[in-house]
Amino acid sequence: MLPITRFSAVAGLLGQALTSCQSQPASNTTEASQPAATATAETAAASTDTISTASISKYLQAVSSDEMMGRKPFTVGEERSTKYLADQFQKLGLKPGPDGSYYQPVPLVEITGTPAATMQIKGNGQNLSLQYKTDFVAFTQREQPQVAVTNSPLVFAGYGVVAPEYGWDDYAGLDVKGKTVVVLVNDPGNAGTDTTLFKGKAMTYYGRWTYKYEEAARHGATGVLIVHDTKPAAYPWSVVLSGAVSPKLRAQTADKGASKCAIEGWLTLDAAKRLFQAAGQNYDQLYAAANQKGFRARPLDGLTVTASIQNKLRRQTSRNVLAVIPGTTRPNEYIIYSAHWDHFGVGKAIAGDSIYNGAVDDGTGLAALLSIAEAFQKAPQKPARSIVFLAVTGEEQGLLGSAYYAQHPVFPLNKTVADLNMDMLWPYGKMKDLTVIGYGQSELEEYARAAAKEQGRYLLPDQTPETGMFYRSDHFSFAHVGVPSLYASGGFESRTGGKEAIARQRQNYTTNMYHKPADQFDPNWDLSGIAQDAQLYFRVGQRLAGEITFPQWKAGSEFKGAREKSIGR
Ligand SMILES: [Zn+2]
Repeated sequence: MLPITRFSAVAGLLGQALTSCQSQPASNTTEASQPAATATAETAAASTDTISTASISKYLQAVSSDEMMGRKPFTVGEERSTKYLADQFQKLGLKPGPDGSYYQPVPLVEITGTPAATMQIKGNGQNLSLQYKTDFVAFTQREQPQVAVTNSPLVFAGYGVVAPEYGWDDYAGLDVKGKTVVVLVNDPGNAGTDTTLFKGKAMTYYGRWTYKYEEAARHGATGVLIVHDTKPAAYPWSVVLSGAVSPKLRAQTADKGASKCAIEGWLTLDAAKRLFQAAGQNYDQLYAAANQKGFRARPLDGLTVTASIQNKLRRQTSRNVLAVIPGTTRPNEYIIYSAHWDHFGVGKAIAGDSIYNGAVDDGTGLAALLSIAEAFQKAPQKPARSIVFLAVTGEEQGLLGSAYYAQHPVFPLNKTVADLNMDMLWPYGKMKDLTVIGYGQSELEEYARAAAKEQGRYLLPDQTPETGMFYRSDHFSFAHVGVPSLYASGGFESRTGGKEAIARQRQNYTTNMYHKPADQFDPNWDLSGIAQDAQLYFRVGQRLAGEITFPQWKAGSEFKGAREKSIGR
């Protein structure tokens, strides 16, 4: 899973997907899905039994062994782990993709940008020189050796959000072509003073910085600068800085990023205040105005910005692994199971260990993926709809493999019923809960609820919705293009240790193991909770495979518009 501080790069890839939000969602929202042909309880029990701690253990040990070298893209670890996955799919009798291969090539480009030392703000009798790193950071998605903006007029566009379902449009009546927009971090409900706006404390997609870059590009802006503020951003400037100076790996796009803003970046709060002052405006007043419904963007009188970035480009191709169980009666409708195969490879040694095995992250998801594939193959009744198993690359670098798949779908997205994503399942025994990340987004959670109930578990909403977890693993790439997506696992209340034990274990994992060599297979782990989650996911997919309806996004979901556009409503 992506850390809170790292943000997905899908913005760079899928800029068109959310334009559909501009059309109001249809009001005939949720037709309840009726289970058409659910498997008998007996069949279900026989199939779920296939998914055992033994099968999880076998696959988990294989994918997180030292031999896999930490599963890093472009290394021998990639070769070994993707080959292992393809071999397993083949052994289980799954079919390759339509082109006869278990691999989908994913061409990536790494952009290492070096901005000019200063960003010049001029006009209105002012001459402000902002310093790289101290006052601003800047980068670009354009695959060019150099990008520059020269005397681009500055506009303050509030939160830079166009959200028809909330009646919000910061770009209303605004022409930003050739201009550079300055926007606030997060969304009005999360960062503002009125928590009745948007989803209150829970972060919406509109609060993501990637979204702000997408929206500015859609309006034809030349540049976009986000005002950093530690509290609503939830991380200090140092985090923005370290993210900005590291090379950026992205999926290659057909237009080489030409439809993106030339320059994307951040300003420190202090630099932004000086900039507003130079325009004869006051930050507090602008902030207050931006939090009012009906806010109108304001030109920053007479001020322009000049900036440039030198880029080094490097192109390389990684790959997703995929396999299919063709449906018996509705083979042209698909249910996707996803997990990411990549991790961090071999790196800085910690306590004498340099292999970042990624056993939990996301060896557990891969083990569940293979176990579920096996369960479908061994089930007495084959699924009516096709089941796709997708192990994606580049998740840790910003959801790259899943974003590439979403942009280059092997199976039509408008015939893709759902994405069921697994990332970081807990090896700490059976759970009483099933925590749904992005609770309230789609009808898939009703399927999850029903499957949880079969296991005597209760459904729980995301306990920290303000951390934007819904946007931090591969299901988000599917949500972004409108495919309803489920991301859930147990991890709040353990059957044997209650809430405290699991909270302690998770805390220990986060502090000592997450994205470290210590995230390695431990024979003392209790894998029964992972088997339990995998069985639950299997049941959800099995039910979806037997139905003829498509689960919907719920009213108010920021992804509903993209789905309606995709299926031609
Ligand atoms: Zn991770």
